[in-house]
Amino acid sequence: MAGAKAHKDENTVGGAATEKAGTGIAINSVETAAYRIPTDFPESDGTLEWDSTTIVVVEAQAAGHKGVGYTYAAAAVAKLIESTLAPVVIGRDGLMVSACWLAMHRAVRNLGHDGLTQMAIAAVDTALWDLKAHLLGLPMVTLLGQWHESVPVYGSGGFTSYPVDRLQRQLAGWVEQGIPRVKMKVGRDPGQDLSRVRAAREAVGEETQLFVDANGAYETKQALNQAEKFADLDVVWYEEPVSSDDLDGLRFLRWNCPPPIEVTAGEYGFGLDYFMTMLQAQAVDVIQPDITRCGGITGFLDVASLCRAYHVPLSAHTAPQVDIHVCACVLPLRHIEYFHDHVRVEQLLFDGALIPKDGSARPDKSRPGLGLELKRSDGHRWLVAASRGWDDQPEGVRP
Ligand SMILES: [Mg+2]
Repeated sequence: MAGAKAHKDENTVGGAATEKAGTGIAINSVETAAYRIPTDFPESDGTLEWDSTTIVVVEAQAAGHKGVGYTYAAAAVAKLIESTLAPVVIGRDGLMVSACWLAMHRAVRNLGHDGLTQMAIAAVDTALWDLKAHLLGLPMVTLLGQWHESVPVYGSGGFTSYPVDRLQRQLAGWVEQGIPRVKMKVGRDPGQDLSRVRAAREAVGEETQLFVDANGAYETKQALNQAEKFADLDVVWYEEPVSSDDLDGLRFLRWNCPPPIEVTAGEYGFGLDYFMTMLQAQAVDVIQPDITRCGGITGFLDVASLCRAYHVPLSAHTAPQVDIHVCACVLPLRHIEYFHDHVRVEQLLFDGALIPKDGSARPDKSRPGLGLELKRSDGHRWLVAASRGWDDQPEGVRP
């Protein structure tokens, strides 16, 4: 564990506070571990295939308390945190999370502010918010300011690699759990999409909201043609029908798909400028920031404020156990994604992972912070990288 005593950093830029340990509660360690967990069945969407999910977990400590955060990213992010972010955070005031975020943001200037660097910041930022909540003895929702008692969820999976019977079983399973909205993948084989969506509709019944996600697989007119067919099956949500970078294409589809189909995107946004550009382009009906990509809780709350200003609702992309707490504190919330892979990973790795009831999830206010505790011994079999301080090293990773 890296040690540090409270000290002051005189730097201030633009009036922003960067003092270290102003209250004397210094962050004394930031440790990371990466776990690669095989999926329970081969998975694919319109543009990607995978058979495992990697999560990078951060634990930050101060004054005998611990906070946990994470991102879904390559294991290299664990090294980036250890080499570049932990040194600028350790010794800072554990109650001044925003100042830590700013220090991290500056530290990666020459590496770029998108992609893995922002995912690394997200994991550390979430751990620091969780640490602050533990230091103050508060549940996360009380610390952040709660708008909603519970957050609606939608079941998400329906991978293009699934045989039809597996697709139907998964979607119907969420409906049986009381979740009234489900999402499936399309776009891998456009000729098969309509029959798969029809099979999904048969499995979930007429009352369930059915969403489709093409992950950018279609071209614009092809996407419109598909939408007209999906509309006959009462599909109401059309996620990333074309590339998220094609804002003109998204806007065209937004205004030309048959109502009530909504066009959505935003999961690849890392910084505020990305979301501002997408909102200014009027490209989406609902925007989908991912808290593990867009700078953690600090970055996500910024995006939520932007959504309020543009009167566009927000649906949180993946990482449900963080979303449940943070999205209860976000006014323009539509719902959060109860994504099959991440539900499974978070249940395997964390004590305190919540399960939705009657289609929504309620933050647990009986526990401080996010209410999560990493089950290190359970996770050891999937450990692929860890920082020097981690007491449970994967074999062959370090001497
Ligand atoms: Mg998506």
